[in-house]
Amino acid sequence: MSTINLKLKESSYNVYIEQGLLPNIGKLISEWYKGERITIITDSSVDKLHSNMLTASLSRYAYYVSKIVIAPGEKSKSIETLNYIYNSLAEHGITRNNLIIAFGGGVIGDVAGFAAATYMRGIPYVQVPTTVMSQLDSSIGGKTAINIEAGKNLAGCFYQPKAVYIDTDILQTLPDKLFSEGLSEAIKYGAIKDTEFFSRLLGMNSIQDAREHINDIIFNCAGIKCDVVGKDEYDTGERMLLNFGHTFGHGIERYYNFEKYSHGEAVGLGMIIITRGSEAMGITKTGTADAIKEALAKFGLPYTYSVINKEKLLEFVKMDKKSEDGSIKLILLKKPGHAFVDKILKDDLIKFLQ
Ligand code: NAD
Repeated sequence: MSTINLKLKESSYNVYIEQGLLPNIGKLISEWYKGERITIITDSSVDKLHSNMLTASLSRYAYYVSKIVIAPGEKSKSIETLNYIYNSLAEHGITRNNLIIAFGGGVIGDVAGFAAATYMRGIPYVQVPTTVMSQLDSSIGGKTAINIEAGKNLAGCFYQPKAVYIDTDILQTLPDKLFSEGLSEAIKYGAIKDTEFFSRLLGMNSIQDAREHINDIIFNCAGIKCDVVGKDEYDTGERMLLNFGHTFGHGIERYYNFEKYSHGEAVGLGMIIITRGSEAMGITKTGTADAIKEALAKFGLPYTYSVINKEKLLEFVKMDKKSEDGSIKLILLKKPGHAFVDKILKDDLIKFLQ
């Protein structure tokens, strides 16, 4: 088992990564959790596929295990689902001495994390992520959130889990499309922080190839995430680098009304747009955008898009969270593996779409 320690000022914790970890999770949790009750929060798809193994492992250590199952998908990151979770926690007799397990993809991690942060003013929770995206990124770092009508992730807080348990075998049931969407974030990690890892991804030829190297991919990205969050828990400096590709990516998602491209696909396109632009401006080493395109193509991710109304796309891009009055913070590359934050005038964003 690989262990990465995320060092924080107040609440450091470990990220454990192993193929076939799930059957041993009861033992791992029993090493530090001495309460009686555990509630698993999961979605109905993950529940059908994997809950039995998790429940059996916990029951072996005499825990009283209950389960809250919600609908899969982004719509579950809502105030209504949160309310349902609060009431279910109360029904299951969960108190501050108990433990929540967030068992699923990023949606479950975000909403269960927010429930854990706020139910009874905060109860302990662990993350057991089950998608590529959540294993290499969202389960680590303590960002929790729900969506509100005004936008995604607008209500939430920082609340760190006690541990993150990653079983890469769980990804065997993840369909290729979802698998490759997570790989878009892996390309992002290589592009911003790790030249050698970026080259290794480029050396892979297909999703199948990535599946064979998934332990290594998750370990690398989780390591980078722990390092970045350890330096900037509250997202005021270095953690912003993790938003590479996201500013134009979010714009593209909204331009197509969240229907044409998934988040991972849109981030891939966002990385290409920003890097083509910064290359043309002489900021980024020539060939970097092509290298990102090649990596996306190998994993079956889109790398071209057609935007008819550039002004409309820019309106969405300007709504980014890193936007200030007349300017916006962008994450740019000098070359693969080397990213930095730049502040530019919003009026100059059009230059990236030439
Ligand atoms: P998701 O949680 O919606 O999962 C995608 C689908 O995969 C779901 O239908 C789920 O039921 C299914 N699934 C999950 N595990 C499976 C498995 N092992 N086998 C088969 N099916 C499985 O999507 P996601 O991409 O994991 O997460 C997206 C969410 O993560 C977004 O809401 C995003 O805002 C959030 N996010 C959070 C952070 C953070 O730092 N907190 C970072 C990035 C993204």
